[in-house]
Amino acid sequence: MVGDGIKDNGEQRNKTASDIYQVQPYYQRFDQKNNMTRQRFWNPPAIELTRQLHENLKENILKNRPGYGLRDWAFYAGATANMTNSGFSINWPNRRGNSWQPLSKLTQSLAMVSPHPGYGKLEVDPSIATSLVKKMGHLFGADEVGTCILDRRWVYSHWFDEETREHYPIKFSDEPGYEKYQEPAQLDDRTQVIPEKMKYAIVLIHEMDERGMATAPTLTQQATTLTVYSRISFITVMLAEFIRSLGYNAIPSANDTALSIPLAIDAGLGELGRNAKLITPAYGPRCRISKVITDLPLEPAEPGLWGVTEFCNGCRKCARNCPAGAIPFGERSFEPLGIFNNRGVLQWQIDHMKCFKYFAKVGTNCGICIRTCPFNKSKHWGHKPVRNIIRMKNRNVDRLIARMDDLLGYGRYQTPDHFWSA
Ligand code: SF4
Ligand code: SF4
Repeated sequence: MVGDGIKDNGEQRNKTASDIYQVQPYYQRFDQKNNMTRQRFWNPPAIELTRQLHENLKENILKNRPGYGLRDWAFYAGATANMTNSGFSINWPNRRGNSWQPLSKLTQSLAMVSPHPGYGKLEVDPSIATSLVKKMGHLFGADEVGTCILDRRWVYSHWFDEETREHYPIKFSDEPGYEKYQEPAQLDDRTQVIPEKMKYAIVLIHEMDERGMATAPTLTQQATTLTVYSRISFITVMLAEFIRSLGYNAIPSANDTALSIPLAIDAGLGELGRNAKLITPAYGPRCRISKVITDLPLEPAEPGLWGVTEFCNGCRKCARNCPAGAIPFGERSFEPLGIFNNRGVLQWQIDHMKCFKYFAKVGTNCGICIRTCPFNKSKHWGHKPVRNIIRMKNRNVDRLIARMDDLLGYGRYQTPDHFWSA
């Protein structure tokens, strides 16, 4: 059952993302500064591309191009409203809306019973705690919830500060000099410290609207994505505060602090695709990921493989459709194409600079490799048999399935009018 760890044929049980993607001894934790979304603050070519992106967005709006009209603009404004209101940042850790500190003392309801009545700390078996956080994750609005042990290799070596445009270390409290920090902290020199006892992560999957993503690349599609980030901004904060109120620490996070995809794989929620997206059984790559890091002891899921790598080997539909030529047709590799890739992980290496150039050209982010992926399907019953065939790992039919997907018209661009008419 999805969300409780993908059940596979047993042969891959207990493997983690680092086993599956053969992380090499020379691998080093990724510096968030090198992510393309952060390079736009400090790297001259990326700064110039960001300027072009804004220019082209403006032109698309002024010329009232499909997907850049008043409704699309209003959708975009509405989609970002909650993040603006709460100060939640997609990429900036430990700041206002996604603070690493308890928020309850600031809220009126709990101020009424101040001082805290003193319930103490929840002491239960990890399996019960896991059920509890999954229940609350779903109730607060996540579509899938999984749990894993926090593999530190996926935590950024440094976080990027949009204010100073510099990067600062992320340390653990068992590193020399940081032993006294038993609660998450930002130090005066802007180092973030994660207590060593925060060994667990809850990973949450958030579906993006199928019709909205079918308009990729437009402002309609970008607003579809941002709607989900706005949801993440309250779901993760609520879940983190729930955990803190049980007597534990919690760090809510969207794209900041750690790489979300390998954590999601460790939490049994999907596999890595050729398009460098998490491919989930329920939505394929049509989702966003968030996480909450905690010291509440949890039972980790069992990552499982259901044939995504093998299917991607034969499919290549995202590579064929990428207008930037950023997705490779060939084999996976340990070697990066630039500072925007990790070195020492066996994966299809995406040229994120080429991808970002295409963003600049269209004036929004893109999403074509999400729209066109054969795994991007609704939960409609008719798609179930195909998913089951892929899970059976009969590699002879992979290309046929990908071809049929094309012939049946799946993944084609749909006009924003189609989105608005539904
Ligand atoms: S987002 Fe667009 S440009 Fe970037 S890799 Fe995907 S299809 Fe290519
Ligand atoms: S489009 Fe095909 S090759 Fe690309 S991620 Fe999806 S299944 Fe894999």
